[in-house]
Amino acid sequence: MAKRIFNFSAGPCTLPLCALEKAQAEFVDYGNSGMSLIEMSHRGKIYDAVHNQALDAVRALLAVPESHEILFLGGGATLQFAMVPMNLMVEGKTAEYVNTGAWAKKAISDAKKVGGTKVIWTGESESFMRIPRKDELAFNQEASYAHICGNETIGGIEWQEIPDTGKVPLVVDASSHVMSRPIDWNRVAMMYAGAQKNLGPAGLAVIAMRKDLIERAPATLPAYLAYKTHVPDKSMYNTPPVFAIYMMKLTLDWVK
Ligand SMILES: *Cc1c(COP(=O)(O)O)cnc(C)c1O
Repeated sequence: MAKRIFNFSAGPCTLPLCALEKAQAEFVDYGNSGMSLIEMSHRGKIYDAVHNQALDAVRALLAVPESHEILFLGGGATLQFAMVPMNLMVEGKTAEYVNTGAWAKKAISDAKKVGGTKVIWTGESESFMRIPRKDELAFNQEASYAHICGNETIGGIEWQEIPDTGKVPLVVDASSHVMSRPIDWNRVAMMYAGAQKNLGPAGLAVIAMRKDLIERAPATLPAYLAYKTHVPDKSMYNTPPVFAIYMMKLTLDWVK
């Protein structure tokens, strides 16, 4: 390699070279098993160890408390725009969204398709140049949940303090700033992030959510779309995105 290029794009972007090289060295023959990790069963001992190490690393690095479950799902952060309202909306209650720009808008657009969605603040008339001030936000304590985009990757504005939503569960899209700061789990009921900005390859979403919220899913949801489907087998209800989880684990080793 004449010159390694550092891609400063939000994502996909540069990963730690040591993580890439480790993956390269282990790619064809994983741990003297005679196979690549992506050729073997995800139900076997070898992958299980990698999977558990990835779960443990997320829990340790983000100090995720036992009140919150960690899930690895396919579909990136975008599938979460739909899964959040499908699982967390409660009949007769609205979900409250803060519109800070391009990513918040996508989340709002999907939520509206699922049910009662209220945008309680929008920066649209100011060309999304800022995050709302504390005194501009009032979360209805009867709302089913509230949603913010922690870091508006395209617009470049970021919440410096996670708002206190009281008893309303707060959902945060942390795709492009996850692992750059501690998360206040007293305020964050659910965090989701597409992996390719800060953690690893695309296609994987990392989720940490309060266990009581997982139970909210309506019985009519198809299996994959209900968070609770993914709890018993530690996100191995179906074949997980094995390679993405493995690369994330290598990246988290580097973060550590
Ligand atoms: C990139 C990004 C997404 C979309 O992630 P995908 O994994 O491509 O679905 C969602 N939210 C934010 C804040 C992002 O930066």
